[in-house]
Amino acid sequence: MSQEMNPGTYTAPVLKDFERQGAVYAGLIRTLEGGSFVHAYLISGAAGTGKRTLAAEIARFLLCTGEKRPCGACPACVQVRAGNHPDVILVQPGVPINPSVDKGLKSIPVDEIRMVNELTGQHTFVGGRRIVIIQRAEKMTPQAQNALLKTLEEPVDGTVFLLISDAPELLLTTIVSRCRALKLHPWPDDVILGVLRARGVADERAHEALHVSGGSIGRAVEVAGDENYWQRRQDVMKDFFAIESRSDVLKVSTAWKDRKEASAELLDDVEDMLRLLLLVRLGRRDAALVQGYPEAWRHMAQKGDMESFSQLLDAVSQARRMRMNQVTWQAVLEKLLLRMMEEKSKWST
Ligand SMILES: [Zn+2]
Repeated sequence: MSQEMNPGTYTAPVLKDFERQGAVYAGLIRTLEGGSFVHAYLISGAAGTGKRTLAAEIARFLLCTGEKRPCGACPACVQVRAGNHPDVILVQPGVPINPSVDKGLKSIPVDEIRMVNELTGQHTFVGGRRIVIIQRAEKMTPQAQNALLKTLEEPVDGTVFLLISDAPELLLTTIVSRCRALKLHPWPDDVILGVLRARGVADERAHEALHVSGGSIGRAVEVAGDENYWQRRQDVMKDFFAIESRSDVLKVSTAWKDRKEASAELLDDVEDMLRLLLLVRLGRRDAALVQGYPEAWRHMAQKGDMESFSQLLDAVSQARRMRMNQVTWQAVLEKLLLRMMEEKSKWST
């Protein structure tokens, strides 16, 4: 963990941490500090990469009344964190700020944006600055986007729009071109581990959550706290990876044939767990992470050839296809288990 990460004092990234996402964020912080920020940002990136956190951090920075912004302690900082700062307008599908817009809509209709435009034309409550956060901005109807465009073309002094989207390609190009792009990428391992540790997640679990997170802090946090997930992983290890004989194949496929509702997750688990063996083999993950696997698999993680790994991963893909094609779930399981048994026996000593 790097020095500036402040271990133990945060459970989500703070503005400074975003510098780890690339030079554009160091530039962002400098422009915020210099007061030369633009009036619209488009924050994009995959689920769990911190888009909403970044928006909240920018809002805190711009509204903070403390000495070293964002101080985290002044009323503005506290209110932004709590989601009740009077000069932060939060727009999202289904939870309208305009009382005449129906609740629960999947889109953001034009009347909602008209309301935003009306509000941003009024005086602010506190310090002259106002932040409009539009979550899932791609859910704005074309009409709504056009209404927003007019506002972006004639910005109100002190108002900053933060558009958040994981599908920015669905926005009008005219909207995109009026915004400064802030794209978020998968996070480095040490940042994710730092967040998990700060939340009190035990080391072994944190490393495994990191492994399945794909660089998403949100996914890592979700997995780390999902007891069903950990129980299922234990079951998969105990059943699928301990397989020794054809009678085991029958026993395990019979036991799992009624858990069809978890079948997609099960195949994801098997794939993740095989992939971890491969990453250890490639030297990209610590061998300690596969200590819980039966010996034959640990042996494969030391000596396995790429061809065998790729055949195993293919077997999982094939199981997915068979499942989609309505092949009996038990038959899908048997085929996969037989392939795993065959591979495992190659590495048993
Ligand atoms: Zn503050």
